[in-house]
Amino acid sequence: MIYLDHNATTPPAPAVAQAVLAVLTEVWGNASSQHAAGQDAKRALAAARATVARVLGCKPAELVFTSGATEANHLAVCGLLEAAPPGRRRLVLSAVEHSGHLKLARSLAARGTLVDFIDVRPDGTLDMESAARLIGDDVALVSLMAANNETGVLMPVAQVRELAHGAGARMHVDATQFIGKQPFNFAALGIDAVSLSAHKLRGPKGMGALLLRQGVTLVPQVQGSQERQRRGGTENLPAIAGFAAALERLGDLAAETERLAALRDTLEAGLLRALPATHIFSAQAPRLPGTSYLRFGELSADVVLQRLDRLGVAASSGAACSSGGSEPSHVLAAMGVPRDAALAAVRLSLGETTTRQDIDHLLAQLPPLLAPLLAAESVPMSASSSAPRPEPAAQNH
Ligand code: PMP
Repeated sequence: MIYLDHNATTPPAPAVAQAVLAVLTEVWGNASSQHAAGQDAKRALAAARATVARVLGCKPAELVFTSGATEANHLAVCGLLEAAPPGRRRLVLSAVEHSGHLKLARSLAARGTLVDFIDVRPDGTLDMESAARLIGDDVALVSLMAANNETGVLMPVAQVRELAHGAGARMHVDATQFIGKQPFNFAALGIDAVSLSAHKLRGPKGMGALLLRQGVTLVPQVQGSQERQRRGGTENLPAIAGFAAALERLGDLAAETERLAALRDTLEAGLLRALPATHIFSAQAPRLPGTSYLRFGELSADVVLQRLDRLGVAASSGAACSSGGSEPSHVLAAMGVPRDAALAAVRLSLGETTTRQDIDHLLAQLPPLLAPLLAAESVPMSASSSAPRPEPAAQNH
């Protein structure tokens, strides 16, 4: 199989599998127990925490292990909103956050929290004027992703942090798609809270963390004595050890970025040459090196994915975490992409295991399968490009 769905998940590295198995079989004690088995687990937990903290540039005490980025996002948003001073009750986030994050925001809005969504421009970049307009002194929390999981567009985190902190609000960043792909240092970033997920960087699934700047308090959402009272539940030590192993093995990110960008450029240039109806979303925006979000005319993504599957290529349509539904991506809707064009969107996401041979195989095999379908496509592009803009999936209050 040629796996081009690294933004959905990544294959666990062998060192990760070994670390998980070693802890699962040898260090199975409960880190809260007083006896020798418990003390072994406690030491292993401290060692893994120290490794994760060192690689991410935070203090061990600033690290709260969670079941992944979804939970870390919930903890940050609910925990920081609840801890905000009485005059600050508003949550501001971008319209293109991860679907789970937007669902949370909508459910908070339904229960009375004031929620505003920052617009994006047609190229998927954040509209800073919209951000400046929305971030005022009644805002408790601003939440922004570092990189979008669909388009790969990089968000202006430092600029928005200036606005948030200037207004006296807390700032949370969902760095799930960023960490492991771009250099990251929590201390240097000056953000209050950052979410990440182990399975996006070749670690185990169901494991992630919230980095919480020293001195920032939140209201825990899962009560218990673990993680300095910030997230209860017996620590998932095998996954934590796997998470540490995944971070520890991250190599030279600058070299990998260059390699992936070159592969992505080869892929996109080859597809544009062979199939001129190819359109690449956010092509000119600053974006992650391994993400290519495109459509072939208005061929439905399902049809393209079937052909890719026939070639042994795994890719995805729309958001990584939504399965097979026919609702267009909320990210493309927010960018003003018409429905039919959005339903044609296919994401190819490259990663550490992607090779030049993979790209060459795809470039040799896919165009002959799609060309006849494109020739038969009956609706001319000009007809659909004048279609009315769909309502963005995310609603302002
Ligand atoms: N945020 C972003 C930007 C993501 O891409 C994802 C995973 N697709 C998540 C959050 C959720 O992460 P997890 O699977 O660890 O819950």
